[in-house]
Amino acid sequence: MVPGGRITLVGIWTIYGVYCLTGRCQIPTSAKSGEQTSLIITQNSSDSCGRKRRAPSMESWSASLDDQLAKLPIDSIRGNYVRKVKDCIFSHTYPTPFISDVRLVAVSEDVLENLLDLDLSVAKTDDFLQFISGGKSISGFAPLTHRYGGHQFGIWAGQLGDGRAHLIAVYINRFGERWELQLKGSGRTPYSRRGDGRAVLRSSVREFLCSEAMHYLGVPTSRAASLVVSDDAVWRDQFYNGNVKKEQGAVVLRVAKSWFRIGSLEILSNSGEFHSLREVVYFIINEHFPAISRTDPNRVLAFFGVVVSQTADMIARWMSVGFAHGVCNTDNFSLLSITIDYGPFGFMESYDADYVPNTSDDEGRYRIGNQANVGMFNLNKLLVALTPLLDNGQRRMASSILDGFPALYYQRFTELFRSKLGFLGAREEDLTLIVSFLSMMEDTRADFTMSFRQLSEITEYHLRNLSITEDCWALHDISQHLDFPAWVAMYLQRLKSNSDDSDSARRQRMKATNPRYILRNWMAESAVRKAEKNDFSEVHRLQKILQRPFQMQRMAEVAGYSHKAPEWAKDLKVSCSS
Ligand code: AMP
Ligand code: MG
Repeated sequence: MVPGGRITLVGIWTIYGVYCLTGRCQIPTSAKSGEQTSLIITQNSSDSCGRKRRAPSMESWSASLDDQLAKLPIDSIRGNYVRKVKDCIFSHTYPTPFISDVRLVAVSEDVLENLLDLDLSVAKTDDFLQFISGGKSISGFAPLTHRYGGHQFGIWAGQLGDGRAHLIAVYINRFGERWELQLKGSGRTPYSRRGDGRAVLRSSVREFLCSEAMHYLGVPTSRAASLVVSDDAVWRDQFYNGNVKKEQGAVVLRVAKSWFRIGSLEILSNSGEFHSLREVVYFIINEHFPAISRTDPNRVLAFFGVVVSQTADMIARWMSVGFAHGVCNTDNFSLLSITIDYGPFGFMESYDADYVPNTSDDEGRYRIGNQANVGMFNLNKLLVALTPLLDNGQRRMASSILDGFPALYYQRFTELFRSKLGFLGAREEDLTLIVSFLSMMEDTRADFTMSFRQLSEITEYHLRNLSITEDCWALHDISQHLDFPAWVAMYLQRLKSNSDDSDSARRQRMKATNPRYILRNWMAESAVRKAEKNDFSEVHRLQKILQRPFQMQRMAEVAGYSHKAPEWAKDLKVSCSS
């Protein structure tokens, strides 16, 4: 029997996650009139090549107007109270500083130095601490909160918006890249609904660590520049069981090229604000999709096409590292197809296409194997939102672009998994080998990450002789499968068809594709428990290790990060509460 030969077509689609794609598919209360609206922070000092140098202090960041963002419609009401906001893209709202002192938990050196041109010494200054905790805005910059809506768990939820986030700067760095700096957990806004505008330390540690980890795994994502914690009390019922506890408030400074989401367009379309819809769509295209010509009469269609293909790529990449986002609502799906809004996410441990990281997701709508389906659902909502900007012919073309999503996803998925198995080029049997490896993993509950990693580390000689020791614990689990010997034979045969390859080159290549370290729930939990006691050592350790997820590191091995999950972690749960 061909290994995995009993897998039906439905089984294959289940594993690929595309089995039901069709159809379903001191708070200023107002910004004073005349105040500058949205600013780009630029630096004047340059090196001999004309590139900007790193800023030695927050003051040396000089501000200038961002005339593009400022042209987008701004809420005419300036008060910071919860309301239904109309006819705008942004509201002016200032962060609410914490009452107690704030402490710096961690910074991303890469983000500060290489994205934001900041000298690392700045991270030690009080100005910086104030800036990243919402205590002090950059002079002349009026922070913005974004009005968006969204489909939550498949249902239109109306106005959502930045209920606890503030855009505090737009920065153009020395490479000409435009970065939007956003605080999360920085206080109430017009969009806070019944929320308190805060984020707790545990969810902030998870977002900080995971968004950086995803970057180093090669997955498109927002970045995290810094994390601060305060002693201000934030009350949360973590598991929605009536057990309300006092937690610490925290703020992450998140950085992305854009924070626009599918829900950003949905709210405008839904409320008939077509003029603003056109304006913001053209802004996004001009700013972030430079390959689309400003004079192209099909530019909205072209934009939709790129989002469809980039979303397919993003979700395929999630699958390639076993990442489940947890809350794939349209308000959490970026128009730049980067991973945003880290909440009850999880990396799958033992292989399970029905893995649901979020305990609040009773129906498993956002189970890992369903992410491509919900991606298509979300893209369909994007298409609905864009419809007022399309003529009949363009609408038909957009529908057929959307119909092409499963094929794009399937192609990316296959490419990524081909390279996870060390294949060069493409051959017919690759699909069988990929699917049957995953299927054996599913049957034996073997660990997804370490199965691929240990296959990358084991020599062809040991594999051929089926000498897989218990050190190779995940591969050892799979090797107990009845189909394993036949699979290995077929796999080794396939490797022979790689041209100009050697066993050491294969292992080298596979190790650069299959991470040894991912942010498993138990690791994040362990770092959170210490951080809640003011010990940030494990946050720092994980941050450091996850910057090189493909390289074996002594510190990580000692900490057991490539081992089976410890016993205490078996029943860990993550909920939406954050
Ligand atoms: P999320 O689940 O984090 O994507 O959030 C969904 C919506 O709820 C967004 O509009 C958030 O801004 C809002 N939200 C979540 N938590 C809070 C909070 N503690 N205070 C105010 N708004 C919140
Ligand atoms: Mg969100």
